[in-house]
Amino acid sequence: MTKVKTRFAPSPTGFLHVGGLRTALFSYLWAKKNEGKFLLRIEDTDRERFVKGAEENILKTLADFGMNPDKIFRQSDRLATYKKYVEQLLKQEKAYEEKGEKGTAIRFKTPKTGITEWEDSVYEKMQFKNDAIKDPIILKSDGYPVYNFANVIDDHEMEITDVIRGEEFLSSTPIHIKLYEALGWQAPKFAHVPLILDKDRKKLSKRTGDVAVHEYLKKGYLKPALLNFIVLLGWNPKTTAEIFSLENLLEVFEIKKINKAGAIFDVTKLDFINREWQKKLGIKPENDPLYQRALKIVTKKFSDSDESKVIKQLLAIWPQIIERVQGPSDLDEKLNEFDFYFKEPKYDPEILVWKKMTAEQTKINLAILKDFISKIDEKDFIAGVLEKQIKDFIQEKGIKTGEALWPLRAALSGQKNSPSPFEIMEILKLEKSLARIESAISILLTLDDGF
Ligand code: GLU
Repeated sequence: MTKVKTRFAPSPTGFLHVGGLRTALFSYLWAKKNEGKFLLRIEDTDRERFVKGAEENILKTLADFGMNPDKIFRQSDRLATYKKYVEQLLKQEKAYEEKGEKGTAIRFKTPKTGITEWEDSVYEKMQFKNDAIKDPIILKSDGYPVYNFANVIDDHEMEITDVIRGEEFLSSTPIHIKLYEALGWQAPKFAHVPLILDKDRKKLSKRTGDVAVHEYLKKGYLKPALLNFIVLLGWNPKTTAEIFSLENLLEVFEIKKINKAGAIFDVTKLDFINREWQKKLGIKPENDPLYQRALKIVTKKFSDSDESKVIKQLLAIWPQIIERVQGPSDLDEKLNEFDFYFKEPKYDPEILVWKKMTAEQTKINLAILKDFISKIDEKDFIAGVLEKQIKDFIQEKGIKTGEALWPLRAALSGQKNSPSPFEIMEILKLEKSLARIESAISILLTLDDGF
């Protein structure tokens, strides 16, 4: 039996995007699952679209995700091979020269009647009418072959058994098949993978997530989470399982289970998978790229403060942040809600007042609480312990929960929404907590009585 051999064949026209990584991943999985080989072929014959640094980025990204290729080829190193086959087709009159302004190009003669068909591993029976296929250029006047030609030559010479690539190449496949026929070769199996769409079922754009993979890593996604999310774009194991490592995928991945329908890129799902991976890995903040990003944000934002204090504070409140953010996608926005841990909050005194309470009542309740809290031992400043003590106390005093805890929480945070007063006090500790309650009481004095 021929060993499975796949390849990832990116054109170095930019950094590796999510769609490219998915193609690479499917190709890698299919080869390795079958104990075969996975090649990387840099298709760099389009010199005009060549982007410096793209090849390095592709290689680094593959390595980052543990998908190192068994071998790497570069088409620009293989020009003599393509020329050899162009000569052959010319000799056999299966190709012809076309003189243009800049020089001579070579076109491949394609039949104008009948149909070209193949059994796609994903799209099943595919048929194209031959009259729709224009004779394609195979060698340009600059001596470089075009994608359609070099791709076929290489897939044959490199003994690729399964070509896995994006759906956008479906319409090029008839040309490839015709070339295989003209050269007397057997075509590999083709698996075209569905387009990646945004939530409105439009082609993914830069705005909706079509950005370089390393941008996602910079945003704070864990590599295994991103990989896990990407594999589910157009593939699923047809079970309820959703969390997969590369090792798991090597067991369960099947080309047959790739869907034809466009895959929806849902950032909420990506964040969900990221949270699952944070839990699964029991990741420590210092090893979590999300924490690293938060650290960058807060140290920049509070650059006036003592940096070591800012770092210590972020580490302390990290569990609270993690509980409240969806993931890297809303980190920036959600982090703003935690500013009160880093600087004294400035707020509208009205937010201290709960529903129909008066400012006077609010002030009284805060004063009672302050007095009680001042007597709590600092070693008991643990959210759970504080909660029990304070709740017991307000019950004993006959104060309604909301009428005590809302003003307390607002006094501590200066915000309408925040973690509970107990969680905040655990972080602020005794002295700071009392100072904030004190200042809330004095701010309340500025409000008209009977508010
Ligand atoms: N160079 C093509 C690309 O950029 C390769 C397509 C294929 O895999 O055949 O995606």
